[in-house]
Amino acid sequence: MLPQTNPKKLSVIVLCVVLLSILVFGFYKYYVVAIKLIETEKELASTIENFKLFQQKVFELQASLLQLSQDKENQSKAYQDELKDADKKVQDLKKLTETDPQLLAKYSKVYFLNENYAPPSLVSIDEKYLDDTSKPQEIHKEVEKYLKRMLGRALRSGIKLTVTSAYRSFSDQFSLKAGYKVTYGAGTANQFSAEQGYSEHQLGTTVDLNYASTTAFVNFENSDAYKWLLDNAYKYGFVISYPKGNVYYQFEPWHWRFVGLELAHDLHEDDQYFYDLSQRDINKYLLNFFD
Ligand SMILES: [Zn+2]
Repeated sequence: MLPQTNPKKLSVIVLCVVLLSILVFGFYKYYVVAIKLIETEKELASTIENFKLFQQKVFELQASLLQLSQDKENQSKAYQDELKDADKKVQDLKKLTETDPQLLAKYSKVYFLNENYAPPSLVSIDEKYLDDTSKPQEIHKEVEKYLKRMLGRALRSGIKLTVTSAYRSFSDQFSLKAGYKVTYGAGTANQFSAEQGYSEHQLGTTVDLNYASTTAFVNFENSDAYKWLLDNAYKYGFVISYPKGNVYYQFEPWHWRFVGLELAHDLHEDDQYFYDLSQRDINKYLLNFFD
């Protein structure tokens, strides 16, 4: 015989069991959800971490792409510079082979010009700059414009310079020297006139100048013209070959040789004379001789 159960007590027990079950179930569900949440959070964190790593990789890739394109650009620039350099060297070489090395050669009793040497092209000097219009004078074609500029500038400054002698061939020089020897005797003639083959006049780049008020170089040394030449000739590429006190020939204040603007400027600036430099140093100026 089962004990008599109070129905009220029973329903309380049932209620308690139901409530307890709900509570346990609730806790269980909460636990499951909480676990899920933690897992999801972990996954999210890991995804974020992966994303960050991915982003980092993208940045790195972008940086290396940029570097690569910069490297390529630099490489192509360096290549272009190299090409330009090579091109310049070729142009310079071409220019050098076209420039007559005799134009800057030193001529003395040791170094002399071949008797067959003649400038490639000669032109007549404007009559208005001739000392004697009955004696036409010729000069190297490329040097003529520099001479004209110099004489023109001198004239505008009130200095009337004229050309007594410019290009002289080997035979001209021979005749001139023979004439001097007859007039002055060999010893004296040697002091002021180069032997044929030594003369800078054979180059076609050298002129003997005279001042309107003087005759045949007399007192040229003390003329305004000589002073003007000393101050200005270098601006037109001309230098005095045989200055006072030189050991090559007697002092020739009227004898001026074209050596190019660059060398003439440097000689003037350094207070040096053409024949004082070594041939090796002089030859460096050959490249820009006519510039
Ligand atoms: Zn001369």
